[in-house]
Amino acid sequence: MNPELPVTEQPVRVMPRVSFERACLLAKIGITTIGDLFFYSPSRYEDRRDIRKIQTLKKGEQALVFGKVIECGVQRSRKSAKFFTKAIIGDETGRLHCHWWNQRWPAESLKTDREVIVFGKVDSLYPPQMTNPEFEVMMGYADSRLNVGRIVPVYGLTEGVKQWGIRDLISRALDRFLRDLPEGYVYDSDLGFPSRPRAVQMLHHPAVPGEEELARKRLAMDELLEMQMEIQRRRKNLLEQGQGIKCPGNNLLIRPFLKNLDFTLTPSQTEVLREMRADLNSGIPMRRLLQGDVGSGKTVVAASVALMVMEAGYQVVLMAPTEILASQHVKTFRKWFEPLGVRVRQWTGRLKDEPDSMELLERNPAAPNAEIVIGTHALIEDSFRIERLGLVIIDEQHKFGVDQRERLLKKGSWPHLLAMTATPIPRTLGLTLYGELDISSIAHSPEGRGTIRTFIRKRDKLAAVWEFVKKRLAEGRQAYVIYPLIDEPSNPELKAVEAEFTRITKEIAPFSVGLLHGRMKGSEKEYVMQQFAHNQVQLLVTTSVVEVGVDVPNATVMVVENAERFGLAQLHQFRGRVGRGKENSFCILIVANSAEDSMERLKILEESRDGFRIAEEDLKIRGPGDFLGDRQHGMPSFRFAKLLEDYALVQRARKIAIENVQKEEPSS
Ligand code: ADP
Ligand code: MG
Repeated sequence: MNPELPVTEQPVRVMPRVSFERACLLAKIGITTIGDLFFYSPSRYEDRRDIRKIQTLKKGEQALVFGKVIECGVQRSRKSAKFFTKAIIGDETGRLHCHWWNQRWPAESLKTDREVIVFGKVDSLYPPQMTNPEFEVMMGYADSRLNVGRIVPVYGLTEGVKQWGIRDLISRALDRFLRDLPEGYVYDSDLGFPSRPRAVQMLHHPAVPGEEELARKRLAMDELLEMQMEIQRRRKNLLEQGQGIKCPGNNLLIRPFLKNLDFTLTPSQTEVLREMRADLNSGIPMRRLLQGDVGSGKTVVAASVALMVMEAGYQVVLMAPTEILASQHVKTFRKWFEPLGVRVRQWTGRLKDEPDSMELLERNPAAPNAEIVIGTHALIEDSFRIERLGLVIIDEQHKFGVDQRERLLKKGSWPHLLAMTATPIPRTLGLTLYGELDISSIAHSPEGRGTIRTFIRKRDKLAAVWEFVKKRLAEGRQAYVIYPLIDEPSNPELKAVEAEFTRITKEIAPFSVGLLHGRMKGSEKEYVMQQFAHNQVQLLVTTSVVEVGVDVPNATVMVVENAERFGLAQLHQFRGRVGRGKENSFCILIVANSAEDSMERLKILEESRDGFRIAEEDLKIRGPGDFLGDRQHGMPSFRFAKLLEDYALVQRARKIAIENVQKEEPSS
């Protein structure tokens, strides 16, 4: 043992009988330390408190029997070609006959004299008999008191690690080391939480049903508290150290900007701008999340905030998750900003406008340094540098991780942050992922938009769907058709989309069809998008690359193929690509003919356009991992906390963290 290390970090090899080989096997299920043993949650529990004597078994009941193997072998059926394993198990009161039909493997471990637990339904008496019972064999040094007569943990295993083996190992680790585990945070008594060591004990060996859940909650609370402390410390650091760049605003950019817009801001937009104006002037760096459903008009808000910061003489960076979206923003912002003499630079993997490449533009004498750089992840790379960074805007924030956000912020000295998302964040995730951000919401989308109607159709109705699409195209509208596939160059399914593209081109002639997917070169994507934006292409065959942000108001039909393969929140995003103009729009979700249960799941999209409701539903069905895409999106991984169920705990942890961090010494 290394006395320098806390008990949880002691390597698992300090346990007797853990050889190098065994340690390697354990590592496969993530166990390398004593702490990993402590916190290795059982996947379920079996209540084995009620062990029945064979003599007392009753016909038809489910029962648990503990005994020794008297004999076991594989036999052929007399009547048919079938075979079965037969074992006779004995305790001090009688003998139980067990059959496993068409299976040989039970015979491999049911050796004579081994102790065994069997669980199953008693088919008949005289002799007592069970068919295909579950069983577990005790071998070697396994202590039967660990495995019978109590609520028994059942762990996830890997090849070469036996259930009784890991049970034994964990139990020995608890006996030997649990006393060295610190008591942990003492929560208010009304939570009724056990101490940390006691919780670990209960997690593995609950004395009564329910104790394991209490233990889980205590350990979940520890995790949540740790995370909330980190969030609150970051926030405190911001308040104490952060030199907020003061942007009082002289209105020289924003006034003409708003005047030239071809619409007026909605009351919701004006309201959130007021909130942000106050942030910019507070002396503390702004940390704000702007939430607003798809199409609610977040871009123009971001543009306004950018101008306020530029009026104070600073530069702005806007990061978007896809190149398509970045170049769309470049176009929009050039249209809006160049008349004001504000420089708009692009910075993506493909296209990098160096600062001096744009000197030709006539600068606004009132704001000679005014500049916004719009790009993708490429902005995070070291090669991108910026002098006077005053504001970082992150569009579709949910596509990025916390670390990416922090890295971009480090390009300046305490710049303001505006993160935007249309994915409504269920409350729990909000506190967890965005705990240190203030939240503004655009409550209502601009008026004068057409309605969006959503239909779910099985594949066999596809012909009718195409008729419908053609009618809309004939009326001068445009449409998207989306195929579900991972937009990676190596994915063979991309071929299928290309084939569909050819088929559809024939099907809907004379209308013109464009193809857009992730494998295409940046310039090709750009070209197709531009053609679609200018209505030279009427129908866009595409993938999830258009999930976020794309804004073509004349497109009013969205067809999603194999909609059952998408999450609800993602479909809601797709649907946000239509309904952006005055015309009525349609979203048609095509599902496989056999996908009855998906029809059920997708129904909520027919009924509701409430992004929050849809997101909560998605979280319930698919869990937070799926909801947010992969791990890189900054989703913390917990062993014990369940974000949807533990909302009350998250709130409590946040409260405790705020109190505790306030008491801490100022950080240096
Ligand atoms: P999102 O919030 O999804 O990013 P956008 O910012 O792309 O939405 O806005 C969607 C569309 O609504 C754009 O075409 C934009 O020009 C338009 N828009 C934004 N604000 C208003 C408004 N106040 N009145 C009318 N149209 C608006
Ligand atoms: Mg947007």
